[in-house]
Amino acid sequence: MNSIESQWLDALREDGSQHKIAPWQIAEQENPVIELVASRPDFLGGNYQFLIGLLQTVFSPEDHDQWLEYWETPPTAKELKTALQPFAPYFELINPDGPAFLQDFDLAEGEKKPIAALLIDAPGGKTIKDNLDHFVKRDSVTGCCEACAATALFTLQSNAPSGGVGHRVGLRGGGPMTTLLLPQTTAPLWRKIWLNILPQDHAEGYETVEPGCTSVLPWLASTRLSDKKGRATYPEDASPLQAYWGMPRRIRLEVANRQPGQCDLCGSQVDELITHYRTKNYGINYEGAWVHPLSPYKRDPKNEKPPLSLKGRQGGLGYQHWLGLVWKDNDNNEAAQITTEFNNSRVSEASDDSLDTVRLWCFGYDMDNMKARCWYEQRMPLLNIHSDYREDFIHFVSQLIDAAKDTVKLLRSQVKSAWFERPKDASGDISSIDQSFWQATETSFYELLHGLVVHIGKSRLMPISIAEKWLITLRKTAETLFDHWVLEGEAEDMPMKRIMGARRLLIARLYNAKSMPKSLKGLDHITRSGKEAA
Ligand SMILES: [Zn+2]
Repeated sequence: MNSIESQWLDALREDGSQHKIAPWQIAEQENPVIELVASRPDFLGGNYQFLIGLLQTVFSPEDHDQWLEYWETPPTAKELKTALQPFAPYFELINPDGPAFLQDFDLAEGEKKPIAALLIDAPGGKTIKDNLDHFVKRDSVTGCCEACAATALFTLQSNAPSGGVGHRVGLRGGGPMTTLLLPQTTAPLWRKIWLNILPQDHAEGYETVEPGCTSVLPWLASTRLSDKKGRATYPEDASPLQAYWGMPRRIRLEVANRQPGQCDLCGSQVDELITHYRTKNYGINYEGAWVHPLSPYKRDPKNEKPPLSLKGRQGGLGYQHWLGLVWKDNDNNEAAQITTEFNNSRVSEASDDSLDTVRLWCFGYDMDNMKARCWYEQRMPLLNIHSDYREDFIHFVSQLIDAAKDTVKLLRSQVKSAWFERPKDASGDISSIDQSFWQATETSFYELLHGLVVHIGKSRLMPISIAEKWLITLRKTAETLFDHWVLEGEAEDMPMKRIMGARRLLIARLYNAKSMPKSLKGLDHITRSGKEAA
């Protein structure tokens, strides 16, 4: 299989039919491809990023105007095919005597592993030994087709968690969050990919790449080893485009003695299944200030430490992270480069409204060190805020989010006080309380955001009606959820005195100006000042 020439990506066309396509076919105009289809959500994210990386490397626009031209009118399929062709020799998946896609250049030997170990959520050796493989069962994937192997390779290389001594993490660290720009669901796949491409003049070092460039595609040369005699790989050691093709793991798919059979991942019947791969440690060790354009990062305000990609977290992803994913929040979390590009140059640029409804698709694994706890994803709105007013807007939104964070803290601590005699000693995962709160307030939050957009520019103060509505939402939700978590049970078994004490304290801290957290007090103050003025 060749990742550029073969038809290997499952895709849905406008008329609803499903086909396997080669990358250049995303530019076909008749009955265009509108979406990719994958057997697993992480594979969908992987294949999107493969296509984005491919176009960014081979077919990137020189500047914003050219980007916009291709947004309005895609290249012909023939034009795209011709552009990709010279790179095809470097994208062979199975190539015993030469370079192979995302695989080590000259790995002669190495530990033989079953193909299932390429999957990030596959149980590791220790998990199996301890009989803890309830998430993904051992031996449920014993063979796969070449298309699934290519996607699994890409997904592992770009998300790689630490894998034991010398098995390096991905260029963005283990299990990074990815944020892609997403146009309307019905938009052609071309636009879904093109929206995530940076123009050359907005990204240093992204100029036109020669086919076979080893600084961009690391599998075309001997691996920069990171063992005792080796060294780390810093941004200055490679092209910045290597971010799209990071290869921390030394892997080579096993090609000997392959048998026909059914792929355990996508179900297709193939002549030669892939059942094993070989691997060795001390592959490329990415260090320093590498930044992947599709991931948000936490920046060091003093600029001393390298930026850290944001990760998935226990307790989920929600609007409380919105500012940091879309612009920047008070904790120095900053949007991905592609999101910033959109905010600064693309909003409402098109001749139609095709850029007005773009959302941010955030996804990744929630990793517990080497183990994937779960996959999470969210689609969040992007808003068109003029740069003159952005600072005010961010300030208002921070106020709303801070008040929500303080309210959830109060709720959690009073539920614990009701549940346990000694709440401080109580252990265990109570993140579901937080999750229920974030979910219950999400719709109101985004509604108020749209209210803020209408208001912004008219005054530098938080609108009274928004402060008031949000305060009511937070208080009501906290009360309702307290009752839900604490009082829904058999009344006889309940320590009612303790429960009512906790409830009284919750109410006091939500409503009494003297004991309210500062963030709530701020909103309360705005609300009252409005009432007095009226
Ligand atoms: Zn398959």
